[in-house]
Amino acid sequence: MVLRAEILSIGDELTSGQRLDTNSQWLSEQLGNLGIKTVFHTTVGDSMSDNVDAFRTAARRADIVVATGGLGPTADDLTREAMAEAFRLQLEIRPEALEHIESLFARRKRPMPERNRSQAMFPVGARIIDNPHGTAPGVDLVAPELKSDGTSPCRMFALPGVPAEMMQMFKATVEPRLMNEMGIGAQRWFFHSLKVFGIGESDVEKKLPDLIHRDRDPIVGITVSKATITLRIAALCSSESEFREKIQSTLREIHSQLGLLVFGEGEIDIDEAVHRMLIERGVSLGVLEVGAGAWIQHGLAKLSEPGAIGLQASHWFPSMVAMSPDVKCGDTDSATNALSMAAEQFRKEHDLDLCLAAGTYPTWDAVSTSATLPSSDFSFALARRGKETKCTTVSLGAHPDVLYHRLAKAGLNFLRLELLQHD
Ligand code: AMP
Ligand code: MG
Repeated sequence: MVLRAEILSIGDELTSGQRLDTNSQWLSEQLGNLGIKTVFHTTVGDSMSDNVDAFRTAARRADIVVATGGLGPTADDLTREAMAEAFRLQLEIRPEALEHIESLFARRKRPMPERNRSQAMFPVGARIIDNPHGTAPGVDLVAPELKSDGTSPCRMFALPGVPAEMMQMFKATVEPRLMNEMGIGAQRWFFHSLKVFGIGESDVEKKLPDLIHRDRDPIVGITVSKATITLRIAALCSSESEFREKIQSTLREIHSQLGLLVFGEGEIDIDEAVHRMLIERGVSLGVLEVGAGAWIQHGLAKLSEPGAIGLQASHWFPSMVAMSPDVKCGDTDSATNALSMAAEQFRKEHDLDLCLAAGTYPTWDAVSTSATLPSSDFSFALARRGKETKCTTVSLGAHPDVLYHRLAKAGLNFLRLELLQHD
């Protein structure tokens, strides 16, 4: 059975947007590595009744709760009291915790303010989580109520909000307790990503109807970022080799359904995939781009080591950008003719194997103010040594933040498919 966790982040600075909740991300990853699935991230401000609600709700629906924040000595630090009230427990002073706090002040040669005594208060039955670097010890409490489905009561850990203290305490105390006392850690989550370009998210789902079920094992999830789709395969396994074995048939199914739409595995984007192919094949490339930016060159050039073989970008020859700036995307025939000629001319002049020319990138202004531009046609031409120049026209629309990436990736994908055809 997969244990379900909830992360509870506490503090007005989080709910007001003043500070980003980074604790949840870190804790979810840590729990994932132990095979625990985080199913809720809850963020709650410094209000007593909301905290009590949040603790009760979390205890009902999760097997493990890790809360951070609200363990300081000031009036807005309510976590200890909220936990006590949520489960109708008394708070009691714990001499060993008080001693630790007093000794910390003694070492810093400062008198302990009376308020800090509150940090030694614990709900009856709770265990202390030592905090060697701060005055706020953590709380480890088994919620004294059965969950509605009759499964074991929820195990709750409350840690300070300060990320460095929280991380140290999780690693030194929470993780070993989870492993030794709850038998956790024999399995953990493993992930494998496949990168896809040239198809919409929902079309991917349509092609893989049997794979996108949430209760499937392994799980396959889809996310999109900057026009690249990631298929993330996840499974709870005890070793990398068990995981590899387990995902084999899922991988086969994805490759057979998506074919050339899959351009890479792992954390790779299409510019890197194309860059690798060029290097492997020892093929030289020129890129011509006109208009708002040099999106393809940027992607490739950032990967090029000085002296890398086989790659040339036109920004090394700025005077050679050969396209007439009045060629507009949309006028497909004349645009592709002009592009083809420019690509071949540039390829010849520099004695390159290939030259990819992209149509005129529309300006940001045009993209963000025009209703039609973001979905208009856009052309690419690929001049090839000893072969006829190839053209393609894509019809793409997107928010300006994504549009240029999508156009550049469409050009790179055109080039990738051409390289694959000659393998
Ligand atoms: P607290 O334990 O509530 O006194 O929080 C101490 C400090 O830790 C806060 O002032 C925040 O700057 C930081 N902090 C609290 N919660 C988080 C969180 N979830 N992610 C990142 N930083 C946090
Ligand atoms: Mg706080």
